[in-house]
Amino acid sequence: MNEKPTKRKGSRAKLRDYFLLNTGKVLNSGTLRYIAGTSEWGRRVRELRNEEGMNIVTHNDRSDLKPGEYLLVDINPIPSFERAISKETRAMVLDRDGFTCQMCGAAAGEAHPYDHGRKTRLHIGHIIDKSMGGTDEPANLRAICSVCNEGASNLTLDRPQAIKLLAQIRRAPTQDQLEILKWIIQKFPNQSINFLSSITLVGGLEQ
Ligand SMILES: [Zn+2]
Repeated sequence: MNEKPTKRKGSRAKLRDYFLLNTGKVLNSGTLRYIAGTSEWGRRVRELRNEEGMNIVTHNDRSDLKPGEYLLVDINPIPSFERAISKETRAMVLDRDGFTCQMCGAAAGEAHPYDHGRKTRLHIGHIIDKSMGGTDEPANLRAICSVCNEGASNLTLDRPQAIKLLAQIRRAPTQDQLEILKWIIQKFPNQSINFLSSITLVGGLEQ
């Protein structure tokens, strides 16, 4: 790589050209910084992905990539609907869905439950596909992790039922049960307090 970055071309354009020249090849952050000629190179890469829809993936998307590695998968752009969805709608859907994949239950930013090597990154997906007449309304959108988005996780097509969940939790180790307790208290703090005070009251009366 002897090509010296020129001053005339903007850093985003330099990165765009370099990714296109190296489609399907893993690039590292040092190279990209050099090509961009700016410490803002990471922001420029995000712009290529989020604004131009370039299918650039990182270790958050693919477990075969290491931190600091970037890959333009192919020249097909990310579906424009996902880029077209406003920041507000996106934030609203993610918040409504508890920043959790609605297919497998993986939480944003945490290690993926079915692929520990990668951090869960959430996308916005359609419940009823556009090709089947689905709309871009929030009611037809849901948070989906990149694993489920690729169809790699076909483990949980149905939402788990309470009866099955309880059966699973009952046979889990205490440590895991306590993890679940912690998560539930964080998710439902007020209900937890009410519930605890109600059982404390009943206990008190019985003594
Ligand atoms: Zn998922």
